[in-house]
Amino acid sequence: MYKPVIGLEVHAQLSTKTKLFCSCSTEHENLPPNTNVCPICMGFPGVLPVVNKKAVEYAIKAGLALNCEISNYSKFDRKNYFYPDLPKGYQISQYDLPLCRNGYIDLYVDGEIKRVRIKRIHLEEDAGKLLHIGSGDRLSESDYSLVDFNRAGIPLIEIVTEPDINSPKEARLFLQELRLILRYLGISSGDMEKGSLRCDANISIQTEEGKFGTRTEIKNVNSFFSLEKALEYEIERQIEILKRGEEVIQETRHWDEKKQKTVSLRSKEEAEDYRYFPEPDLPPLMVTEEMKNKLKSEIPELPAKRRERYLALELSPVDVEILVSDKDLSDFFDKALRIYGNAKNLHSWLSVEILSYLNENKLEFKDLDIDPEKFVKLIEMVDKNEITRPVAKEVLRKYLTQKEDPLVIIEKEGLRVVADTSYLQDIIKNVISNNSKAVEDWKKGKKQVINFLVGQVMKETRGRASLDVVKNLLEEELNKL
Ligand SMILES: [Zn+2]
Repeated sequence: MYKPVIGLEVHAQLSTKTKLFCSCSTEHENLPPNTNVCPICMGFPGVLPVVNKKAVEYAIKAGLALNCEISNYSKFDRKNYFYPDLPKGYQISQYDLPLCRNGYIDLYVDGEIKRVRIKRIHLEEDAGKLLHIGSGDRLSESDYSLVDFNRAGIPLIEIVTEPDINSPKEARLFLQELRLILRYLGISSGDMEKGSLRCDANISIQTEEGKFGTRTEIKNVNSFFSLEKALEYEIERQIEILKRGEEVIQETRHWDEKKQKTVSLRSKEEAEDYRYFPEPDLPPLMVTEEMKNKLKSEIPELPAKRRERYLALELSPVDVEILVSDKDLSDFFDKALRIYGNAKNLHSWLSVEILSYLNENKLEFKDLDIDPEKFVKLIEMVDKNEITRPVAKEVLRKYLTQKEDPLVIIEKEGLRVVADTSYLQDIIKNVISNNSKAVEDWKKGKKQVINFLVGQVMKETRGRASLDVVKNLLEEELNKL
């Protein structure tokens, strides 16, 4: 048997307003190139970096949420290499003394808990971005390249796992859970398609005799799906090589989205020697117990805890995941739950009415401006038979689109349940006389035609009558004929 052994290195962009070592804005999307730049992030000689306190706090929060030890003393180092997107010729990162170490994430994989240990989390600055101009979008196909430094100096945390992951699915689940935690903390958007979360994977195959294989690295996978696909491909490729009795070469590979395969980028012989040395312009990072405690107190309830709490409310695992995967939705659920006790019913209203509305309109929950009290009030009115479910749905839609208070809509448009039987009987008589064909059918024994007649009555009442009441009254009238 061949066992895949996978470790991940994840870069997450921290959502600070300013860059890691200067006061330039971190905005870089849809901006003209080289606008949010200054001598510090452009790497001019003789300038002094100053560390962004917020970025350090965010990194510590990530460490705390991922069960890490936070170093009281850590430092910055220069990682030296030459590349055109790196104006200084080195990147400021952390080498031997990272800010956080020895954490873990517990994942649910097929009903079992799988612990993935985290080796370290460190802070570093992002590099600039190269734009390759020419026939294709790759360097080899371009006539020349341009550099945009808007992204240079944006704070990143690099999260490095131990090689505890044993399948492509586990790798995907880890990355999804990590992103969720970062989003709960509010420290990173985690948008993979925008490059806010980037993942490299190390992978090797362990043989039956327990012999560790040579590993390859897959660089910059840009979606959860691609990560899983790239790893599946690479596992197959390595196993094929081993089956032929050959050896896997240590190299860096790239996931080619078009060809759906990994291709070699460079072998180990060409791998850079970074010649790390301590950054002389930045003082060491000292973290006090007081600072740690303060940051700890700011950490919200995390996804794992929330799942547990929801499962205890007897929501199904699928329902729980729907809620937990969106913190804004889940926060709203919690607020509504405090006023309205029935978790299952509340969840059903949220998933059926709200989520379908979001899907149809391609919105996210945070885009909605919805008041938990008003939402609950509407459900309670249905529970108490004050309005019908179809009316509640209609009012809810109006509330979401026009922002009008649901109670005001109900009163203004007279949408409360019609309990007045003589009023209903009048409508029923009209419906019967206007639909003689259906009535004939009913008389001939086609009893299901009553549903059509009920529908006609409901239309006349604008959905304000109870279905059961209408059906009973209709049968009574029809039986008289
Ligand atoms: Zn700057």
